[in-house]
Amino acid sequence: MITKRQYLEYKELGIKYLEKAYVIIREDEKEKIEVADFGLSDLDNFAIITLTFFNTERISAKVIVVPPRRICPEHWHPPVVHDPGKEEIMRLRWGTLYLYVEGEKTSNPKAKLPEYRRKYFTVWHEIIMKPGDQYYLPPGVKHWFQAGDEGAVIDDYSTCSRDALDQFTDPDIVRIPVIKEE
Ligand code: ZN
Repeated sequence: MITKRQYLEYKELGIKYLEKAYVIIREDEKEKIEVADFGLSDLDNFAIITLTFFNTERISAKVIVVPPRRICPEHWHPPVVHDPGKEEIMRLRWGTLYLYVEGEKTSNPKAKLPEYRRKYFTVWHEIIMKPGDQYYLPPGVKHWFQAGDEGAVIDDYSTCSRDALDQFTDPDIVRIPVIKEE
């Protein structure tokens, strides 16, 4: 759960990063910016700020701001009825991103996880992304990521996005943000 004040603070932070990364957005789109804490109420560790440009039954495009060292927890995109699951391409626009996927475990990974949730991170094949790098994530593959010290801005292209149906390794996660009125 996040408070209205935290939501506004992170929304402004997101706008600041979008400006740094030269993402031009309209005034009315600012109201569509979503701040996710994944239900963990620990924005110092777990936070992403997302603006979805469009999301149809077949295609979706969004920009994701990951503030410095914040984490998007381990998840995968499961099949939904006739859809084999979200197919996603992440392209780094600004900053540094440490992306982790299934595969050979990387020794001395760059990610820094809070000890109390470390057990919910099980894939450790590291991909270090710099601006212009892009990475293809097939449906069903487990992944998670953490921004580097300066943060990261990601262009994210995919088939239909159904965030509410994403599966997470951590059982305490609630994907759709709940904002508490103060
Ligand atoms: Zn994903």
